[in-house]
Amino acid sequence: MASINSVLGPIDSSELGFTLMHEHVMISASGLSRHYPALLGPNKETRAIASLKRAKAAGIQSMLDATTFDLGRDPELLKEVSEGSGVNLINVTGWWLDVPRFLQGVGANQMADEFVKDIQEGFRGTNIKAGMLKCAADFEGVTRPLETMARAVARAHLQTGVPIMVHSYPTGHVARRQIEIFREEGVDLGQVKIDHCNDTTDTEYLEWILDQGCFLGLDRYPGRFVSPHMRTVTLKKLMDLGYTERLCPSHDCICLHIHNELPDGSIPEEHVFQKSNPDQFLFIHRHVIPDLKALGATDRDLEILFVDNPRRLFESGS
Ligand SMILES: [Zn+2]
Repeated sequence: MASINSVLGPIDSSELGFTLMHEHVMISASGLSRHYPALLGPNKETRAIASLKRAKAAGIQSMLDATTFDLGRDPELLKEVSEGSGVNLINVTGWWLDVPRFLQGVGANQMADEFVKDIQEGFRGTNIKAGMLKCAADFEGVTRPLETMARAVARAHLQTGVPIMVHSYPTGHVARRQIEIFREEGVDLGQVKIDHCNDTTDTEYLEWILDQGCFLGLDRYPGRFVSPHMRTVTLKKLMDLGYTERLCPSHDCICLHIHNELPDGSIPEEHVFQKSNPDQFLFIHRHVIPDLKALGATDRDLEILFVDNPRRLFESGS
């Protein structure tokens, strides 16, 4: 058992239940929801609560909200949505891809101190604490500012025991470098989840990541470029290879988004992301689980993927 910081306070890892390990109530940019809230459309709290209530009614008990500061983290919003929906939300600290230029001279130890405060004292001005660490690199690889953030996340992890999730770019095998950095920092790779891994069907590469000891986030559904079915075939293939106990399927669904003006000047009611996935947090229940069962997965397999694996990742550092 391990104590986890949810946005409503500590919960025990045994209370997680069915958990989606990479989702977003909202994505925008740092400070935007406070300073320019109208860009996120009207009644955002009500819309988010309604969406998560539907998730809760389908049996989704907990979600990892992967929105960092640079993605517009708003802990008070998450608190309101968690209270209103009954879904446990665990929010991350760390950094995604947007490192502003004035932060590029800041060192890894300085940033690690800030991330540790987010975990131990709470996001500034709130008593809401981070329950997971996150760092990122994409098609450009681990650039200098992103390396600083990755090392800061590794150091904050070593001081707190809070696990790490990693935005990665499987097409470019970017996790090879990210894992190398964690090794240099002395991180136990059994406390690391490499995400967005179902953006590829290259199971040889994914097996390599798993063989380093990491968890794997197969967390893009429906996703782009690779069909949902092929994503599920890849998931099942990894299960058949014996890795069921380190795989975490999720959607990377974004509930609230900035609504962009159209060329005719109008602003659509529905964000393009909602159109591409009208099922939102229920896509897995409605499409992936039936597909996975048709491929031969058992109820026990599903319990391992959605209940045991999230719990064991949170317990890995205790
Ligand atoms: Zn995400």
